[in-house]
Amino acid sequence: MNAFKFVLFSTLLVIGGQSCKTPKVIVKNHGPKNEDPAMYTIVDKSQQITDSIARNSIAFYIPKETDPVKTIRINFNIFQDDSGYGNFRNVSADIERLNNMFHWLNGIYGNNPAPSDPIAGVIELHKTHIQFELNGVFYYKNSGLINSINSYELLQEIKKTDPKRMDQLNVCFTNGKFGTASGLSSLPTKNLNADMYIVSLNFYNNGKTIGDFAATTNMAHEFGHAFDLVHTYMGGGASPNCATSAEDSEYLDDVFGQWPGNCPHFVTDSAHSWGFDTFSSPNDRRTNNIMGGFQSSSYFSPKQIGMMHRALAIKTPKRYIR
Ligand SMILES: [Zn+2]
Repeated sequence: MNAFKFVLFSTLLVIGGQSCKTPKVIVKNHGPKNEDPAMYTIVDKSQQITDSIARNSIAFYIPKETDPVKTIRINFNIFQDDSGYGNFRNVSADIERLNNMFHWLNGIYGNNPAPSDPIAGVIELHKTHIQFELNGVFYYKNSGLINSINSYELLQEIKKTDPKRMDQLNVCFTNGKFGTASGLSSLPTKNLNADMYIVSLNFYNNGKTIGDFAATTNMAHEFGHAFDLVHTYMGGGASPNCATSAEDSEYLDDVFGQWPGNCPHFVTDSAHSWGFDTFSSPNDRRTNNIMGGFQSSSYFSPKQIGMMHRALAIKTPKRYIR
């Protein structure tokens, strides 16, 4: 049974997991596309069809300025070697780094910047109306897991240590390597009991703090996946829905423009490094969108925010709302 579960979850890691680029390296598409509109089709048979459509539409979930903030309960889980080294430790310098990351994460979700490539008519939101509450920072001395990217075995270790930690969305800090990815995330589904995860790869960076903010933007991006967002560019196991007609309500016209728009956007290449100035041109398909792949990536479009709130209303991450 355990072996079966392991295989099952390993498969889910590949199919459902998202991987995200590290700075300066082109992301390879190492997973299938995830743009099946059916995943958004929630049929509530107790409702009239019109209600059902409204309740599934992105627009329905775009928060108003006065709407309350949803707070998501999370844990930071640090996987060290058997001696308690090789990753963040329970010492003041490392705790400060982790605290910074947590506060930056809330800053990214709390202060939505202007888009680098604005689209006419879009009324921007100043914040996502999503914040995070750090339930705890937990350390695990286990040389067998410090380099893991296997979300199943990481979650099992957390669960074994304290099952109550499954009540929060678990961020796992390891030094694992997964292609060029700097993070992995589960996707929401209609299963409200599934355990979600984010795996943050090599954020410790041998004790160097220089990349801490950039690492946090990656974590913010991973939470975007956990809340149902896909990339603005092709690849990384989470390609955008460029749609086959203007009728596709899942098409993000506030990211790509009126259909067919300029979907997909581009990610880094030899001429456009991770640090590329996405504000240098308003229509070069290189933007500061949170689901893009540049250093400046931190902007959420209104419909992306609506998608996240829809996931928080009817999909797995709902269980982590305070
Ligand atoms: Zn990603």
